[in-house]
Amino acid sequence: MRKIAIVGGGQSGLQLGLGLLQNNYEVTIVSNRTPEQILSGRVTSSQFMFHDSLQNERDLGINFWEEECPITEGIAFTIPGSDKTKALFWEAKLDGYGQSIDQRVKFAGWMKEFAKRGGNLVIKDAGPQDVDGYAESHDLVLVAAGKGEINRMFERDAEKSPFDQPMRALALTYVKNMVPREPFTAVSFNLVPGVGEYFVFPALTTTGVCEIMVFEGVPGGPMDCWNDVNVHAARRGTLPQCRIDRRQWNPGGQIPADGAQADLQTALGRSGARHGRCGCN
Ligand SMILES: Cc1cc2nc3c(=O)[nH]c(=O)nc-3n(C[C@H](O)[C@H](O)[C@H](O)COP(=O)(O)OP(=O)(O)OC[C@H]3O[C@@H](n4cnc5c(N)ncnc54)[C@H](O)[C@@H]3O)c2cc1C
Repeated sequence: MRKIAIVGGGQSGLQLGLGLLQNNYEVTIVSNRTPEQILSGRVTSSQFMFHDSLQNERDLGINFWEEECPITEGIAFTIPGSDKTKALFWEAKLDGYGQSIDQRVKFAGWMKEFAKRGGNLVIKDAGPQDVDGYAESHDLVLVAAGKGEINRMFERDAEKSPFDQPMRALALTYVKNMVPREPFTAVSFNLVPGVGEYFVFPALTTTGVCEIMVFEGVPGGPMDCWNDVNVHAARRGTLPQCRIDRRQWNPGGQIPADGAQADLQTALGRSGARHGRCGCN
């Protein structure tokens, strides 16, 4: 039986490992966090997925949270005009629904499932020497470590990944008690030229159903304002403390209900470059 080692137990590593097991490979996944550490750890992503990606998980029989997770039926897109008008707006239903299931829920669950299906789960912060070791003892080693430092073993391929600087300053927050969107659930996407993008959609997190508000600021613009946000302080606070100026960035769009508390699992980061910073809470 051919032996494959995967460094990194995230979206790609775990899905690949579970798929390889199903095809009778002997698979080792090396994760630097236990399922319990992942579940109680920081928010990692907004992890919205469309039909085809969800179908991959269904095909592997690992769509354990599909019934529990709210569905997102469509996309709504707004470019604001002056005085809270909309310069451009459209909304449309997707052919198949999308979903967002907190990666902490998925990864912790999938790691346990991987071990249950006979995979070899190793908890270790793998370094380059470990990769070399696995290369000796296995037929193939894959590094699927996301933003992990170990990825620095590999040069960025400028042809496939042209950006060497972050293209957006990110912040996101998981929120309870959002006013439901009408007439259908959607990724409600607002593009503010020169400022960035704000979008919101339903999701399933560790404490049940929520909505995720994502802010992508153009570097150096007014929404690139997250650097000094203290996520630990924000966790105890309310939405305004997260500097969410919804009048500017969400004209006429979906807003938090009065008294809505951000569940304040807030993530901050920069995206678009391979070595972007990402600190999450
Ligand atoms: C704020 C934010 C919002 C996002 N929103 C979306 C979205 O809405 N939709 C979407 O499709 N994508 C989104 N993404 C991107 C998506 O989260 C990633 O593309 C995806 O998680 C990458 O999967 P991966 O398996 O490569 O890495 P990850 O999912 O990050 O998994 C890597 C794993 O490897 C582990 N690891 C790292 N180094 C080591 C090591 N040395 N040894 C062992 N283990 C190690 C890590 O702990 C982690 O568990 C978002 C990302 C961010 C930061």
